[in-house]
Amino acid sequence: PDAQQAIDAITPVLDAGLGDEGTQAAPAPATTIISEDAAPAPHRRSTDPNLLLGVSASSGLGVGKVFQLRRQEVQVQEYGGNPHEEQRLLDDALDQARLQLDALQAEVSAQADPAKAAIFAAHQELLGDPELMEIAESGIRNGKSAAFAWHHAFSTQADLLETLKNELIAGRAVDLRDVGLRVLNIMTGQVSNEQEIPAGSILIAEELTPSDTASLDPERVLGICTVGGGATSHVAILAQALGIPAVAGIEPRALDLDETTMAVLDGSKGQLRLNPDESEILRIKSFREKLALKQQSDLAAAHQPAITSDGHDVEVVANIGNIEDARRSVELGGEGVGLLRSEFLYLDRATAPTEDEQTEIYSSIAEALDNRPLIIRTLDVGGDKPLTYLPMPREENPFLGVRGIRVGLEKPELLRTQLRAILRASRQHKIRIMFPMVSTMDEIRSVKAMLAEEQARLGESGLLEVGIMVEVPSTAVMASQFAKEVDFFSIGSNDLTQYTLAMDRDHPRLASSADAMNPAVLKLIAETVKGAHKHGKWVGVCGGIASDPQAVAILVGIGVDELSVSVPSIPAIKAEVRARSLAECRELAKQALEQDDAAAVRALVPLDILNGA
Ligand code: PEP
Ligand code: MG
Repeated sequence: PDAQQAIDAITPVLDAGLGDEGTQAAPAPATTIISEDAAPAPHRRSTDPNLLLGVSASSGLGVGKVFQLRRQEVQVQEYGGNPHEEQRLLDDALDQARLQLDALQAEVSAQADPAKAAIFAAHQELLGDPELMEIAESGIRNGKSAAFAWHHAFSTQADLLETLKNELIAGRAVDLRDVGLRVLNIMTGQVSNEQEIPAGSILIAEELTPSDTASLDPERVLGICTVGGGATSHVAILAQALGIPAVAGIEPRALDLDETTMAVLDGSKGQLRLNPDESEILRIKSFREKLALKQQSDLAAAHQPAITSDGHDVEVVANIGNIEDARRSVELGGEGVGLLRSEFLYLDRATAPTEDEQTEIYSSIAEALDNRPLIIRTLDVGGDKPLTYLPMPREENPFLGVRGIRVGLEKPELLRTQLRAILRASRQHKIRIMFPMVSTMDEIRSVKAMLAEEQARLGESGLLEVGIMVEVPSTAVMASQFAKEVDFFSIGSNDLTQYTLAMDRDHPRLASSADAMNPAVLKLIAETVKGAHKHGKWVGVCGGIASDPQAVAILVGIGVDELSVSVPSIPAIKAEVRARSLAECRELAKQALEQDDAAAVRALVPLDILNGA
């Protein structure tokens, strides 16, 4: 009966922090929902002894001799000397590990995509985990050696993460062991994985840590195959950045393969084929040579405009997640930014970013673009990407729940703060605003009203262009109505495909069938273009299909005006636009819309480079 009284008494005490000062909420995990359902899919198995199946982690073809990378067991003494001495040993090793990680971060940034350096930044954070330190320090206090106590601490924590049976969390266990071994090796003077990898190898390992992967030489390692990991693991991201084809989740019998075995690793299909014949080996080698030459010539022409052979101009811009991407996109010939995923500002922190902080970041990204246009997409989070400081109930179907613009409408202050920051940054820069996952006319009218109010509040009457993402079939089929409300559309083909085909884009068994080249999706894109052009509005595509060289001619033929693509693919996509006339593209698009499935559409556009491979 006195429950309410109890609540009233306890709430202010909890709000005041129960007498604790200065404690900070833990940062939000980027995309974590712990549930048994998220357990990794069982390994795919083939019945052909010469074919091993896994999942695609980095596309491309490699052929070479199998090389087994084995992890060495680390031997440490259990008992240590003076606890103060042992503690100092641990502290010194931690300091050195931090320096090594700084150096690795710089090296990865220089070699490949700077964003990938973030993985090592995350390792730095793991080294600051108070729980990990507490376990190690308590071991030392109890007479254990620094090495033993540290080994026990990180192994215990990693084992714990692994028992959660979630692919994402299991990935963090790999990171923890990786950084843990780094510190341990410093303390013991042992060097792990000093196996010399012969040139021309297809590397096989139970698991590869990010440190192993970052130090791989793409000249020697022609493919990577791991029993653990998945398509979205850090190893996959690093392999992509280094341009090494990779397959994860391969059948465990790969670990028993003899090192004299020749193998073809097909990163795109997620397969390892053994004992290829001589002609196949030659074909793949010639494919790799052609690909390298093509990449060179695409890069040489990256700063030329993307114009079809009969003079039709297509804008090629970039999808970015931070300022580093913005800089890199300009270097690679990007004509602006078609999608800034502003989530990066909100995730992995304990409080929402302030208006000033956002204004400053948007302005500096726009400056990095040097007068090229910047489209900022407002916060696109939801049940599948939770924010710690934005408690939202767990949803049965997060992709069909409070996601994208729906979050902004439910939490208007969050969206209004972002709108004000964008408006302020747009005073000096060419900025457009875009709302994610709009599915009804009500939604766009409400957010436009909000924008007008914030504009009035700031005393502005500027002409900020407003667009929406077309990611839901309802918006595509109503494009001609929506076109009256906005200045432009940008098609989010990743979500549009999952909603059209009713296939979860991250589903371990369905994701590979959720191909945006499905004619059903292409028809919705065509419908969107028709609706927009009728009202003189332009259409971009910023989903993954825009970065797919096979899709470019079809999208251009359908009438898409702008392609917003992943940063590394800018030169190749510009080259694809130049490869045909608009008339040819239109003919291809017409045929594509009449096909039965994605495979038939792809067969219409064989990539020249793949012919004969
Ligand atoms: C999309 O859905 O295609 C898109 C570009 O948005 P995101 O991938 O960020 O959901
Ligand atoms: Mg989307």
